[in-house]
Amino acid sequence: MMLLTRAAKIVSNAAHFSIGFFFPTSCPLCGVPVSTDGELCADCWAAFNWIASPRCECCGYPFPANLDLGAHPICPNCAGGGCALDCIRSACVYDDASRAAVLPFKHAGRVKYAPFMARAMIWALHDTDISPDVVIPVPLAWRRLFHRGYNQATLLARPIADAFGVPIDLDSIRRAYRPDMGHKNPAQRAENIHGVFTVVHPDKIRGRKILLVDDVMTTGATFRELRRVLTNAGAAAVYGVTFCRTARAI
Ligand SMILES: [Zn+2]
Ligand SMILES: [Zn+2]
Repeated sequence: MMLLTRAAKIVSNAAHFSIGFFFPTSCPLCGVPVSTDGELCADCWAAFNWIASPRCECCGYPFPANLDLGAHPICPNCAGGGCALDCIRSACVYDDASRAAVLPFKHAGRVKYAPFMARAMIWALHDTDISPDVVIPVPLAWRRLFHRGYNQATLLARPIADAFGVPIDLDSIRRAYRPDMGHKNPAQRAENIHGVFTVVHPDKIRGRKILLVDDVMTTGATFRELRRVLTNAGAAAVYGVTFCRTARAI
């Protein structure tokens, strides 16, 4: 019996080895071999504009690296009380490199990008002191979910919830369908998003500190509207994390 178990183990190890030999782990973006499954290769990693200090303490806006702004820099928007949430972090800037990853991730089924994106987002939160009770991916309208087959924010939210050791909540907020917001100015985006979210389980929101997860932040209108409805439902705090964000000069 012992021998049989041992033999089975050897066969299993050999199979594992040969699968690894013929299908080595590869960079999800360009396909070159990498040592860890789901990791980016060095070249692809270097193409992203990762956000590090100094950044706005509140919204995560990236300041030029050579600026000495002290230990807790705040951008003019947040200093004026304009931060969309209680704390926001993004892993990288929205530019050609991140757009080339986010668009296929969102619209073309490249769900294999989720692990490296989520890891970068967890890293982006490492120097904050947030302690969420629950993680909520920004919901899609049912009609979009039906056509796309998945919510890209949910794929990012699962590993982030695991990293914090808290549950993910997929059913407390519902989103109504509205036509695409693309290429609209901030005022039009805010108007377009107003009233699309409904808290359907306020009992799961009341008194909770909530971490919202999305792939991209542009004007912050989506986060701002979610904070409005979540605060009305009694949320204790609302934080946000995205894979990338626009970062126009301020
Ligand atoms: Zn690569
Ligand atoms: Zn800020």
